[in-house]
Amino acid sequence: MVNVNSEISTGQATHELWQAMLAHISQGVCVYDAHGCVSLFNPCLSELLDVPPEFLASSPSLREIYDFQMQRGDFAGAPHPLDQPSGLASDADDPAEPTEHYLRLKHLGRTLQVQTRRLPGTGLVQTVLDVSDYVQAEAGRKRANQLLFATQALAELGGWEVDLLREQVTWTDGVYRIFETSPQDFSPSPATIKPLHTEDSQAVEEASYQPSGQSTSTHEFEIEMLTLKGRRIWLHSRGTTNWVNGRAVKRTAIVQDITRRKQTEMALRDSEARWKLALESVGDGVWDLQVQSGEQYLSPNLLRMYGYDDGELQASVAELDALVHPEDVGRVQHDRQAHLDGLTLTYSNEHRVLCKDGSWKWVHSRGMVISRDAQGQALRMLGTHADITERKTADALVWQQAHFDALTGLPNRRLMRERLVQEIKKCRRNGHKLALLFIDLDHFKEVNDTLGHDRGDDLLVEAAQRIQRCLRETDTVARMGGDEFTVIITSLTDESNLQSILPKLLNTLSASFHLGLDQVFVSASMGVTVYPTDTMEVEDLLKNADQALYVAKAAGRNRFSFFTPALQEAAMQRAQLTHDLRAALPAQEFRMVYQPIVTLATGEIHKAEALIRWQHPKRGLISPAEFIPVAESSGLIVELGDWIFAQAAAQVKCWRADLHPEFQVSVNKSPLQFENPNPNHVSWIDQLRVLGLPGESVVVEITEGLLLSTSNGVVDQLLKLRDEGINVSLDDFGTGYSSLSYLQKFDIDFIKIDQSFVRDLKVGTTDLVLCQAIIAMAHALGMKVIAEGVETLEQRDLLKAAGCDYAQGYFYSRPVGPAEFAAMVQKSDEALREAA
Ligand code: C2E
Ligand code: CA
Ligand code: CA
Repeated sequence: MVNVNSEISTGQATHELWQAMLAHISQGVCVYDAHGCVSLFNPCLSELLDVPPEFLASSPSLREIYDFQMQRGDFAGAPHPLDQPSGLASDADDPAEPTEHYLRLKHLGRTLQVQTRRLPGTGLVQTVLDVSDYVQAEAGRKRANQLLFATQALAELGGWEVDLLREQVTWTDGVYRIFETSPQDFSPSPATIKPLHTEDSQAVEEASYQPSGQSTSTHEFEIEMLTLKGRRIWLHSRGTTNWVNGRAVKRTAIVQDITRRKQTEMALRDSEARWKLALESVGDGVWDLQVQSGEQYLSPNLLRMYGYDDGELQASVAELDALVHPEDVGRVQHDRQAHLDGLTLTYSNEHRVLCKDGSWKWVHSRGMVISRDAQGQALRMLGTHADITERKTADALVWQQAHFDALTGLPNRRLMRERLVQEIKKCRRNGHKLALLFIDLDHFKEVNDTLGHDRGDDLLVEAAQRIQRCLRETDTVARMGGDEFTVIITSLTDESNLQSILPKLLNTLSASFHLGLDQVFVSASMGVTVYPTDTMEVEDLLKNADQALYVAKAAGRNRFSFFTPALQEAAMQRAQLTHDLRAALPAQEFRMVYQPIVTLATGEIHKAEALIRWQHPKRGLISPAEFIPVAESSGLIVELGDWIFAQAAAQVKCWRADLHPEFQVSVNKSPLQFENPNPNHVSWIDQLRVLGLPGESVVVEITEGLLLSTSNGVVDQLLKLRDEGINVSLDDFGTGYSSLSYLQKFDIDFIKIDQSFVRDLKVGTTDLVLCQAIIAMAHALGMKVIAEGVETLEQRDLLKAAGCDYAQGYFYSRPVGPAEFAAMVQKSDEALREAA
């Protein structure tokens, strides 16, 4: 509905045209008369203001219209539009200037722009425009701007644009802020920006702007610049350049202030540099691995360690791994991976690395993962290399010394054992057998004692080589010490193979040895045991071989003996005997018996040999021939020997009083008693002194072997005995070395011809010739002769005729207890007196 005021009368046609136009424009139009009341309005006005046309047609004033709307709540609590400062132009305003205000109709969500203009003369015209969309968009833009501003500020981000044709630079607020200035204080242009560059940053920047041949190119770089306050800042720039005919026309970029990141990076690099330096100064090489890429930094020290110069090795983990010893590299990679996987707290590995000059160096590599990603994947690992070549060499030497015999270079007892254990494991797997041999050189001690230790050493070295030559590479030859060797013969498919190896070993060792100018003969005794035939246990194998060796020696040497269950039995008995022997002395199971030594010329008894007897609680009387060797091998002989001497000394004191003032008792002294001086031992000489006996009351019986020892201890002890007047008797003469001239050196008083020469003594036998020769030579050297084992009258007569000085044997008496012995002597003295 349009109410057209008749006052506007510019002709009917024009009027109708206006009317139609007003009715159809999308702006509200309202004309107020001189009283300020609506005189003309179009339908759009009623629509926009949401005021009924009837009300407008009633010529309300503007205030009345707003009042109406106000009451209806259109302004939602906002003050009356005419009461706002920008509400409506007052009359005082410049009439030429239109005024403008906005109406927000909250209930419609509509914003109206109201422009008011005074009409020439009186009255006003108002146009009302719906600017809701614009306002909304504007508000959105503003919000976006604010957000952009805020985020840019937070990200220390800005954007710039350079119009290269016009040489104009546009900065966003962010860039001004980054450069610590404002649009008011600074207007950027290529010329004003230039001084902000630090020394070489402009070059960096320009280098990034190279033409690419495309119409747009991109760039990205980091440069250091100065703010307008002169502070150094780091910027990250990323953007595009537009090109026209090869000429850059426009460049747009976003820049970010990355000063803080750079500073932390640099601080980190600084501190890294510091500790790398610290590590390096300790002499260690430093490595720094980027786990994901495999890049590995190697410090100068590390490179130098292997003889390389800076940059001579590629900085990759693969390159360094390639230099690790093939035997070690697997373990290196395994250990490193275990640490990367988080299975170990630190990485530590000792391995060899190939140096530039082709030598190997032992290093201790230690390291640790220092950063992982959110999933726990290792990102970076740092570590060091320390040169441990010297220690390793020393270790190897120690190992060598601990496992090998210095003289022969053969494995020693320890390594032999380790090998034996290994070989047994192999046998278990492949079903093969193995043989363990104990080899003992016969008469080595004699060689050592007569020719000296150097010659003895030469012999051992030669013997070791001879043994090795009889065996295969895979077999083990070890030296157990002294003249004892061990052989492990492996992969024995058939035990009968041994039948060829063993004689070969015997032969090679019994062949003569040339030691300097001397030609020497030794032989070997061997004990053999076989796995698994004899036993499955390492300990038992060693025991078996030892027992078999014992048997081979006892059987006369220069032979081998296989382990048998009977040996086992015998060994067990020996062990039992040793056990019983320890208990026997405190249990007073020993007693001494005495056998007379008769002066052949007169039949008088002024001497006796003391012999020990053991009354075993279960086994009854046990022969000294059986238990003395056991006492010797267990060391009990020393204690037992002292007890024997004490008995004998007490006995001779009695008999010097009761039987004869110059009575002499012979005491057997085992070689071991010379070698094993007990520190608490009361010397025999002192014991005699305590008893008030002269040295001449005792004779010490020794065996030939003892004289072959050049050990000072033995010689000294023998000389000491002589100095005290104690006589020395050489027992079992003829069974050993039998060198008479040798005896002179030691001041031997008596020679005891062994029973074996006497046993078959008859007229016309070699034994008789031998006895005669021994007697003659002994006399020539100033020694007296005692014949042992005289059982018959014939033997006695032959010996007497040969000039033998004394006789001992069952012909006169078995060894008997002291009372029986004294009675016997007294009886014989009486008989002699009667005869005289
Ligand atoms: P031996 O020192 O050669 O002692 C002589 C051995 O010959 C004694 O054997 C003795 O009983 C035995 N015998 C004496 N006359 C005859 C004879 O006419 N015919 C035969 N067939 N044998 C005779 P015994 O007492 O059994 O001693 C054996 C070995 O035990 C001794 O040989 C000696 O080496 C050792 N022995 C005995 N008592 C002691 C001792 O107190 N101390 C040490 N260290 N060894 C001892
Ligand atoms: Ca004897
Ligand atoms: Ca004897």
